Amino acid sequence: MFRHALDHFPALGEDTAEGLDDLPFLDHRRARAWYRPPADGSRCFSSTGTSGHPKRLAWAPEEDAWYVGEKQALFGPWLAGLSRAFVSLAVGHNAGSARQVLEGLGLEVHDAGLSPLDEQCSAIAAREPEVLYCSPSILARLVDRLRDRSGAPREGGRPGSIRRVITNGEVLFPSVRARAQEFFGIGAAHLMDTYGSTEIGTIATTCPACGAYHFLDGLYPEPVPPEVALPSAPADGPDAVVLAVSSVKRTSFPVVRLVTYDVVQGLRRQVCGGVSRFTMDRVLGRCDDLLNYGELFSSFELADLIRRRFPVARWYAFNPRNDLALVIEGVEPPDFRDLLRDRFPLHSRLSDLGLVDEPRIRFVRDFDAFAARAGLAATVEGKEPRHVLTVTPDPSWFDEEVP
Ligand SMILES: [Zn+2]
Repeated sequence: MFRHALDHFPALGEDTAEGLDDLPFLDHRRARAWYRPPADGSRCFSSTGTSGHPKRLAWAPEEDAWYVGEKQALFGPWLAGLSRAFVSLAVGHNAGSARQVLEGLGLEVHDAGLSPLDEQCSAIAAREPEVLYCSPSILARLVDRLRDRSGAPREGGRPGSIRRVITNGEVLFPSVRARAQEFFGIGAAHLMDTYGSTEIGTIATTCPACGAYHFLDGLYPEPVPPEVALPSAPADGPDAVVLAVSSVKRTSFPVVRLVTYDVVQGLRRQVCGGVSRFTMDRVLGRCDDLLNYGELFSSFELADLIRRRFPVARWYAFNPRNDLALVIEGVEPPDFRDLLRDRFPLHSRLSDLGLVDEPRIRFVRDFDAFAARAGLAATVEGKEPRHVLTVTPDPSWFDEEVP
């Protein structure tokens, strides 16, 4: 790992460094210099992953090749004997390669791309895919709509063809996993969640045998020390840590003690199937102001939009799962929802298609009273408060407000 780091990214080294532990953690400030326009032949993606600020990130052709090959090695044995797959991943690195991954395994693939939710449900009913490969947000919407269309929540009507579900791109919350397993009538071992990032590629996947997440070979995960980043919510528990990852695979971007800002639980080594693997129990969420709301929804741009329109207003973004609620101080002007739509055209399109929920927006006149009822710090002396909170706003917090 250390050798790979110095061979490919000598600028990371320090004269006194003798091992990986001597290299500093690559936090979002230090990583910024490595986000570059792509060289010839590379594909380019946008990531908000390490600071909330959209950045361009290149993948060289040989890196793409291992990315695809690695997914095929993971899915191949698990999908053996199945022949039809349905893909709905919206946009991003993973969406761009899913067809190649599955077709390379001999499956017939229908990629729904950016099509309306109802059309996707009809395609599932007509094509009877055995494999569903989608983001957790889209999975949740598909299950709800397919259930509505079947008219019978428990018996009949469910697409009985589905045998395997693969999720990718956002945190898979236990409630979404449980609803999908129940609806499709599959066990936990038949829903594989893959956790990764645009910077690193696939990081870990759930194990059909033990249910925990195992890290892929060639990756070295470690907890970030508190002076670099801290889990944000006390409710995350004593064994929650912020994850850093090193990789011997990336050659055009340094995944060397790269701070992911993801909070994970139960990071350890564990023997599974006779092999000792880096393992964790689950991804809890983020420890920074990044929003989990589909792809490419930047909290930086959201802050900029709010600051321009309401220079002195305080605000919070509530992002408990993969949905979004905004609470802003003041009175809502008639053009705000249009401004928000224009600023995030991809999300407007995804919500028009029914693939993500629209953001819920509330303006409150007495922000101090709102913050007090919510138990939130409205201002922090000398330091801007975090805007993104991972809780669901309680209706009682709005009690004094005229609806
Ligand atoms: Zn296992």
